[in-house]
Amino acid sequence: MINKSHRIAVLGAGIMGSSIALFLARRGVPVTLFDAAPQPMSCASRWNEGKIHLGFIYSGDASLKTARQVLGGGLSFKPVLETLTGYSLDPVATITDDIYLCHRRTVVQPDAMEDYFHRVAHLIHQHPDAGRYFVDVSDCRVGRLTSRELGAITDSPEILAGFRVPERSVSTNWVADRLVDALDAESRIEKCMGVRITAARPVVAGEADGPWRLESGQGEFGPYDHVINALWEGRLAIDQTAGLRPAGPWSNRYRLSLFVRTAEPVDLPSAIIATGPFGDIKNYNQRDFYLSWYPSGLRMESSDVVPPSPPSLDDAQQSAIQDDVLRHLEALLPGVAKIRRQSKSVALRGGWVFAAGQGELSNPDSTLHRRSDFGVFRLGRYLSVDTGKYSTAPSMALDIVNGLI
Ligand SMILES: Cc1cc2nc3c(=O)[nH]c(=O)nc-3n(C[C@H](O)[C@H](O)[C@H](O)COP(=O)(O)OP(=O)(O)OC[C@H]3O[C@@H](n4cnc5c(N)ncnc54)[C@H](O)[C@@H]3O)c2cc1C
Repeated sequence: MINKSHRIAVLGAGIMGSSIALFLARRGVPVTLFDAAPQPMSCASRWNEGKIHLGFIYSGDASLKTARQVLGGGLSFKPVLETLTGYSLDPVATITDDIYLCHRRTVVQPDAMEDYFHRVAHLIHQHPDAGRYFVDVSDCRVGRLTSRELGAITDSPEILAGFRVPERSVSTNWVADRLVDALDAESRIEKCMGVRITAARPVVAGEADGPWRLESGQGEFGPYDHVINALWEGRLAIDQTAGLRPAGPWSNRYRLSLFVRTAEPVDLPSAIIATGPFGDIKNYNQRDFYLSWYPSGLRMESSDVVPPSPPSLDDAQQSAIQDDVLRHLEALLPGVAKIRRQSKSVALRGGWVFAAGQGELSNPDSTLHRRSDFGVFRLGRYLSVDTGKYSTAPSMALDIVNGLI
């Protein structure tokens, strides 16, 4: 158990590490927060789509195991994050239901998808936190779009059916700024930014229940009474030095998407093309949009313990990716042309997606369709946290801290 005189090192200042550090500090425990980046919240946690998962996207896992695993964190994301930042998420959350569009090459056919959605809705109805989501989902319904409703969104023969589900997303860039402010305001958190951790080892070899030390290019840090590794794509490499064997299989995929701000409001639904290697659009507030086309944005895949450095792209390469994303989305969702015409700024950003799975999303047997294997791994006073999803991070951080104090 941790007490106020303990020294804690948290590795990684993404949403997981930052949330853990804040919860510990607010209980009076001093924390040193390490990150290789110059600022906290610079990587995947700043540049993702911000879908606060209720489980609908995981129709490739008909067992509902993934939906069950992500549901609780998704339902309590809003209140937990609002406690951490002191801000309401309402102004930066999508305001309409998500539309799932079933693609002709989907790995889950429309009727099976509809059946899956109804089963997820049933899970949600039974959950005690169903009233804590962005909208009360304790009696939520999933609607299949009429052909007229579908026709208003797409005229593409590639889309077989559409469904309305009550899922919401948040602007992760905005959330990242609020978490950085919260970290800055917390005197018990010492930030060690620009430090790449290379190893974590018990001070006395083999004594994992004793103090730990950290190694980095800038020298050694410690000793610490507890080390919490929340390094996402960098996690397994440090686990290995600590003596924790990575449970396989896993993969790291480096993905980029477009973050667009328009000059004028654009009225388009948030739509996801499912289930497989397709894309989506998120409309946060009619001016800020997230646009992705999976094959165009996937820049790197690795199953190594240490993934390679992300590719650096020149202006021409970036603009080719941008055009490719827009072209593919516009072919399915003609309304995306309005975003292109109105765009005032476009940023191509993203990060690593670590997953306890491998394979192609076009393959129904790929273990990437089953994402229930995430959580905390422990070796004495060393904890390694696989965040799983952005949406599950704040509540998992709270559980971890509750379990430690
Ligand atoms: C394009 C894209 C879309 C996504 N969409 C969604 C979505 O809609 N909903 C959802 O729930 N999830 C989504 N995700 C996944 C989500 O982004 C991640 O699950 C989440 O951000 C991981 O948080 P984290 O704090 O664990 O990792 P990060 O935010 O990546 O933080 C880890 C930190 O560790 C640091 N680090 C790594 N190695 C070292 C080292 N050796 N030494 C020091 N520092 C190191 C990094 O600099 C980084 O700051 C998406 C991801 C991507 C890339």
